[in-house]
This record gives sequence, C-alpha cells and structure tokens, in this order.
Amino acid sequence: MQALQEYAVMCPYCGETIDVLLDCSVDYQQYIEDCFVCCRPIQFSVYVNEDGALQVDAVDENA
Ligand SMILES: [Zn+2]
Repeated sequence: MQALQEYAVMCPYCGETIDVLLDCSVDYQQYIEDCFVCCRPIQFSVYVNEDGALQVDAVDENA
C-alpha cells in the first residue's frame, strides 16, 4: 500500500471538495490545513482501520 493517498474531502466552511494528501502509515492523526478555496483552517482527523481503509473527518476549527 502506498503511504500517501489522495483523498477528497468537503470543506466545512465553503462546501467545496478539495483533494488532500494523507499519510496512511499512521493509525491516527489530527492536523490543520487551510482550505485551498476559502483559506480557512480545516481540522482533519484521519483514521486508518485494520483493512487499511481511510476514514477522514473534516470539521471547522471551532467544532
Ligand atoms: Zn473552503
């Protein structure tokens, strides 16, 4: 499996779908990245389950 995977998420602010590059070699991580469209900070929570499938939550910073 590739360590980096592209994943499409919806921005919680502007609703645009943006592609982010995720590191799948880590079971769980949280980080903040600015939306490419509206430049507001999105908080990402990334989980990798036992099958290696990604689950991504993208919420606004104050949620
Ligand atoms: Zn946005």
